Amino acid sequence: MTGFPLPPNATIGIVGGGQLGRMSAMAAARLGYRCHILTPEPDSPAGQVAAGVTLGEFEDPAALRDFALHADVITFEFENVSAEGLDLLASLKPVRPSPAVLRISQDRMAEKRFINQAGIATAPWAPVETPDQLRQGLERVGLPAILKTTRLGYDGRGQMRVTTTEEAAAAFARLLPHPLILEGVVDFSCEISVVCARGADGSYAAFDAVENRHRDHILDLTFAPARIADDVAAAAQGIARRLAEAMDLIGLLAIEFFVAADGRVLVNEIAPRPHNSGHWTLDACPASQFELHVRAVAGLPLPPAIRHADAVMKNLVGPAELALWPTILATPGLIPHLYGKTEARAGRKLGHVTRLFPRGGLPGPFGIADAMGPLAAEG
Ligand code: AMP
Repeated sequence: MTGFPLPPNATIGIVGGGQLGRMSAMAAARLGYRCHILTPEPDSPAGQVAAGVTLGEFEDPAALRDFALHADVITFEFENVSAEGLDLLASLKPVRPSPAVLRISQDRMAEKRFINQAGIATAPWAPVETPDQLRQGLERVGLPAILKTTRLGYDGRGQMRVTTTEEAAAAFARLLPHPLILEGVVDFSCEISVVCARGADGSYAAFDAVENRHRDHILDLTFAPARIADDVAAAAQGIARRLAEAMDLIGLLAIEFFVAADGRVLVNEIAPRPHNSGHWTLDACPASQFELHVRAVAGLPLPPAIRHADAVMKNLVGPAELALWPTILATPGLIPHLYGKTEARAGRKLGHVTRLFPRGGLPGPFGIADAMGPLAAEG
């Protein structure tokens, strides 16, 4: 069996065939590694650029075994593999980050408990399994509130905002499976995130906090760095490091925060993998989030997560934004990224575009129009 650090030509197994796997595989190739992808999707974004693919479901023991056979180390771009699946993978090959880390991040309740137990603040929340618990939860967190499923929610799926007890009861009946989690609505001034990496030797690197703006619950724009006070940025960085250390992370961790109107920094959610809000690092940093992911997983030294430019990243979501592609290609200074998805469905992330600015070049009220020019007009 291949040991760490992985030698050139070793194979990194990536669970998941989406764009995060694709960009990780491209970073791995630059470091002389091969990637083998586990995905149920033929012609997946990651599969298109990988050395090999096991086509199969994430819960199929035969597929998981075949996949593990091809890999020297296993990592993820998709964290929703069952506990049994994770244990099977971990019995066959080193899994980084560990199944314990995956289990925390794939369940909103486990995640909130872990974060709060580490002494870190989140929105007020309550577990909701019965109508009685819903009533108690509403008394505790107040209205308006958000009811969320605990598993498999992303991009706003599996959650409903409620403003009355009647709406809460209706949402409780609609959202499945139970248990749910009820969260108080945070009055936030902005949403930020930090992407950090940690090696098996405890080495650590973190990119600057960035500011994220959503449209229809999907990330639309990332501004790097976030235009926040130094003490707010320092608080977010401190929390990122404490969480990475508390979970004994090997790999990459993205932490999304609300900056509350009163300046407090609250963790919204965490993901132990490359993150959409870190895509700007491909173009604005000597080593991107994907390179740090691969290095941490392969046991290579972690370079510092430095930024040589400021950046704005815009996601290209659905066919309407894909229609901007010719404009993007024809506009100097826009750096294009397309993921190879064969179906341009509404709400799907199909690519992104980055624009770089000199360091310190993102002034205060700086919006999409300043950042992306022609895209702002059409998008
Ligand atoms: P999530 O899937 O939990 O990240 O939620 C998606 C988006 O919904 C977040 O990025 C926020 O914009 C919003 N949101 C979620 N939870 C809350 C909350 N407790 N308070 C205010 N906004 C929230």
